[in-house]
Amino acid sequence: MTDTKITLPENEIPTHFYNIVPDLPTPMPPPLHPVTREPIGPEALAPIFPASLIAQEVSQERMIAIPDQVRDIYRLYRPTPVFRARAFEEALDTPARIYYKSEHVSPIGSHKLNTAIMQAYANKQEGVKRLATETGAGQWGSALSCACRLIGLDCMVYMVRISYDQKPYRRIMMKTYGADIVASPSNLTAAGRAILAADPDSPGSLGIAISEAVEDAAQRDDSKYALGSVLNHVLLHQTIIGQEALKQMELAGDYPDILIGCHGGGSNFAGLVFPFLRDKLSGARKGLRAIAVEPASCPSLTGGTREYDFGDTAGLTPLMMMHTLGHTFMPAPLHAGGLRYHGSAPLVSHLLAAGIVEAEAYNQREVFESAVRFARSEGTIPAPESAHAIHSVVRHALAARESGEAKVILFNLSGHGLFDLAAYESFLGGKMAD
Ligand SMILES: *Cc1c(COP(=O)(O)O)cnc(C)c1O
Repeated sequence: MTDTKITLPENEIPTHFYNIVPDLPTPMPPPLHPVTREPIGPEALAPIFPASLIAQEVSQERMIAIPDQVRDIYRLYRPTPVFRARAFEEALDTPARIYYKSEHVSPIGSHKLNTAIMQAYANKQEGVKRLATETGAGQWGSALSCACRLIGLDCMVYMVRISYDQKPYRRIMMKTYGADIVASPSNLTAAGRAILAADPDSPGSLGIAISEAVEDAAQRDDSKYALGSVLNHVLLHQTIIGQEALKQMELAGDYPDILIGCHGGGSNFAGLVFPFLRDKLSGARKGLRAIAVEPASCPSLTGGTREYDFGDTAGLTPLMMMHTLGHTFMPAPLHAGGLRYHGSAPLVSHLLAAGIVEAEAYNQREVFESAVRFARSEGTIPAPESAHAIHSVVRHALAARESGEAKVILFNLSGHGLFDLAAYESFLGGKMAD
C-alpha cells in the first residue's frame, strides 16, 4: 500500500514561482485606466504596490526566484502534505483514486499565508513600514496580520462591519498578531466618512473596505496596499502549491486526470493547477481537466460575462478583463465568505475563455452535505470554501463509479473550517437555505 500522507523534506520547498503567462496560447488583454479606458503601464500601480511586485504582475519570465528569507518562513508549514483519501473513496464506493493537497495546515489555516509572506517581504525590502488591507470574513486579514508580524511590518485591516460584529474569532486572531483593526465603513478615510454620512448604520461591504484600504495606502508615505487574490502576482505566489503537488503525485506513482479547486478570486485554484497546466499546454497531458468550483449564488465564471470591469465597488481600480457579475453585484449572504466576489482572476478567466480550464457551480446545502461526509471519513473539517471543491470531487467520483473508470482526482483543501462552525451548526440543524 502506498503512503496515506505523501510528504516532502524542507529542501523540496520550491525555489521559484511558476509564471504561466509565457506559456499561454494567446496574450492577456492589458488592464485599462479607470477613467480614460486606455491601457495602463506598470507605473500606474506604483502608489499602492512595491516595484518588485509590480514587476511580477507584468512579468513574462517563466520562473521567478523565491527569496531565501521567504523560503525560510515557508519552512514553518511547508511543504504541505498530499493525502490519499482512502476512507473517503471507500465511503463513496468509487474506483477513483482521490488525493488532496492540504493547505489547511498553515498557521492561519489556509493557503492565503503563502502570498501574504511574499507580499510582506517585498514591501519590507523597499522600506515600507506598514500595510493596509481589507478583509471580509477575516481570512485574508489574519493571513496578512500574521505575515506582517513575522516579517516586521505594521498592519492595518479594514474589516467589513457586519463581519467585525458577527465573526469575533478572526478579529481576535488579527489582534493577537498585533494588527490594527477597524470596522469598515470607518471615520478614518474620506470613502468611509461619505458612506457613514449617508447611512450611519451601514453594514459595510468588501468593495467599500477595499476603497478605504487603497485610500489609506495611497495617502501615507510609509504605507502600501496588499490584495489577497485575483491579481497575477498573487496567483504566481500560490504556484508553490502545485509545484509541490507535482512531485508528491510522482512519489505516489500517479498523475491526476482531474484537478479541482474552489474559486473565489482564483488564487488557490490557480496555485494548484497552473504547474500541472504547463504539461497540458505543452501537449504532454492533453486530456488533463482542471475544474474551478464556485457557489451558485455568486457564479462569476459560470454565470458572468467576460468583459472589462472594476475590481472594487466604487470603480477606483484599473479595469481588468475578467469573468464578472458586474462590480455593483451584491451576492446573497453565504457561509463561504471567501467566495463572495463579483469578479475573478483575469488569468483564470483567460484560460476559461480558451477552453483550457472548466467551471462548475453548486448550492451551499449540497456543498455542506459533502463537507460533512468528508469530515466523517478524513477527520478534517473543511472550510466552506474548500467544501465546494469537495462536492465536485464527490460528483466526479460517483461518475467514475458509473463508468467503472479508476480516475485520479487531486483537489486543493484550501483551508480548514474550525472558524466556521456556526455555518456547520446551521447546516446540521437544518437551518441553512440555498
Ligand atoms: C479566501 C479563501 C478562498 C477563496 O479565495 P481564492 O483566491 O479563490 O483562493 C478559498 N478557500 C479558503 C480557505 C479561503 O480562505
